[in-house]
Amino acid sequence: MFCFQCQETAGNKGCTKVGVCGKDENTANSQDLLIYVTKGLAEVLNKLENADSKYYDLISNNMFVTITNANFDEDHILDKVEETIKAKDELIKENNIEDLSDAGKYTTDDRDELKRKAIEVGVLNIVNEDERSLVELITYGLKGMAAYNHHANVLGYRNDQVDKFIAKTLEKTLKDDKDINDLINLTMETGKHGLMAMETLDKANTEKFGNPEITEVDFSAGENPAILISGHDLNDMEMLLEQTKGTGVDVYTHSEMLPANYYPKFKKYDHFHGNYGNSWWSQNDEFQKFNGPILMTTNCIVPLKKDNDYLDRLFTTGNAGYPGAKHINADENGHKDFSQIIEMAKSCKAPENLENTKIVGGFAHNQVEALAGDVVKEIKAGNIKKFVVMAGCDGRHKTRSYYTEFAEKLPEDYVILTAGCAKYRYNKLNLGDINGIPRVLDAGQCNDSYSLVKTALLLQDAFGLESVNDLPLEFNIAWYEQKAVIVLLALLSLGVKNIHLGPTLPAFLSETVVNFLVENFNIAPITNVEKDLEEFTA
Ligand code: SF4
Repeated sequence: MFCFQCQETAGNKGCTKVGVCGKDENTANSQDLLIYVTKGLAEVLNKLENADSKYYDLISNNMFVTITNANFDEDHILDKVEETIKAKDELIKENNIEDLSDAGKYTTDDRDELKRKAIEVGVLNIVNEDERSLVELITYGLKGMAAYNHHANVLGYRNDQVDKFIAKTLEKTLKDDKDINDLINLTMETGKHGLMAMETLDKANTEKFGNPEITEVDFSAGENPAILISGHDLNDMEMLLEQTKGTGVDVYTHSEMLPANYYPKFKKYDHFHGNYGNSWWSQNDEFQKFNGPILMTTNCIVPLKKDNDYLDRLFTTGNAGYPGAKHINADENGHKDFSQIIEMAKSCKAPENLENTKIVGGFAHNQVEALAGDVVKEIKAGNIKKFVVMAGCDGRHKTRSYYTEFAEKLPEDYVILTAGCAKYRYNKLNLGDINGIPRVLDAGQCNDSYSLVKTALLLQDAFGLESVNDLPLEFNIAWYEQKAVIVLLALLSLGVKNIHLGPTLPAFLSETVVNFLVENFNIAPITNVEKDLEEFTA
C-alpha cells in the first residue's frame, strides 16, 4: 500500500504498511482499485452523448467511499468495484464502445483477481513526482467535490456540469502523456467546479431544511435512551428524526453533524436533544459512554480500540463502512429503514453526561447577511479590525493545539469565521462578542464552506472593494482530509491569496507544486502562534 492523501500520513510522507487512520493494507489497495475502475467507467461514460444519471452517481459514491475515514470495509469496497465493472461492461456492450484504456477495458468477476489487481494500481505508478503530485491533488479535489455532489444528489439536486467535469477529469488523469501545465490548469478548473458543487449543495440544504439561524446548542445528556448520528448526511438526519418521532428515543448529533442543530426544519423535532461529544477523533471514548446506538453517515470513523465494546451498537450507511458494523442500505427510492437502530436504542441506557456546555452557531451566509449592517457598522467604527477564516478539519495530532492557542491569543477586535470540525479546537473558549457579534461565527460543516465564500463576497461588496484580497480578512486553514482539498482549490480558483495552511503542508505536494502555489498564491505553512499572530496582525 501507499497512501498519502491525508494530513496524518506517516512521517508526512506516506503510509506504507498500515494507515495512521487504521486502514489496513488490503483496504487501502481495494480503494486504489476502486479509483482505477471508476476512472474506467468515467472514460466509457465520456464516450456517450447521454447517459443515465445513475452512472454519475456511482462515480461520486465511489470517490466518496475512498475519502479518509469513510470506509474501512474491504468487502464493501470490493462490492463497489464489482458493481462499477458491471455497470461499465454493460455500457460498453450496449453502445459497442471500443478503443479504451487499460482501466476502461479491465474486467473480471473473480475476487482473487481483483485483490491481485488492487496491488498493481497504486498512486506510485506515476513515476514523475510532479505529475503524481498534480494528479493526486486533482484526484483528492475530485473526491471532495464528489462528496458534496453526492449530498446534493440524495436531496434531489444535480449539477450536470459538475457530474461531467468529474468524469472528464478522471479520464484525463489516465493519460500517459501528461503535461505539467495542462495539469496545473486542470487543478484550477477543479477548484472552479468544486465551488459549483458547493453552491449546489448549499441550495439543496437551505431549500430542503431552511437557512441555518443563530442557535444555542446544548451539549449535555438527557434521561431518555437515544441514538447518536455522526458524519455529514442531512438527508439521513431527517429520515432518522422522522422515524424516531414518538418512540421515546432521543436523537443527538456528534462532531460534523453538530450544525444540523442550526436548521429550522430539524429544530421542530422535540426529541432532537442537542449535541453529544466533540470532534471525530475523540469518538472512541464518547461512543463508549453514549450507551446507545451510533449511526455513521459518512467519513469520520475511528477504528475501535481494544477496550471499546460498542461495535454491536455501531451502524453505517451510505458510503461509510466498518467491518462488523451493520450497514443500512437505501431502497430504490432512497428511503432508509432505521427501525433496527430504534429498537436497539429502546433497550439501551441513556447517555452518560459528558459536559453541560452550550455553544452558539448558525452563522451561515443568510444569517450573516441579516447581520451585515451591524457587522459593517462595527468595522467602520473600528470595533472589528479583522476577520480570520479558521475553517477546515480537526485532527488528533498534538500540534493542533496551535489552533486553540492562536484563537485564544487573537486580539479582542478580531472575529473568527469558521466551518468544519476545526472549530472544536476553540468553540468552547468563551471568546466573547463585539457589541453582540460573537467572536466565533460558525457557518456549519466543512460542507458549508461555501457560506464563508459568500460572507467574504458580501463584505467585499459592502466595502466596494475590487478583490477579496483587499478585505481585512486572513485565512488560517486547518486541513485533514480531501474535502478540505476541494475547499482550498475553490478558494484558489477565486484568486484568494496568502492562505496559511496547517498543521503541515500536504505530503502529496511536490517541491515544484509547492513553489507554484507560493509564487502564484503566496500560500504558506503555519509556523508558530507568536510568529503567525505577528504576521496576521501587522
Ligand atoms: Fe495514511 Fe491518511 Fe491514507 Fe489513512 S488516509 S492511510 S492516515 S494517508
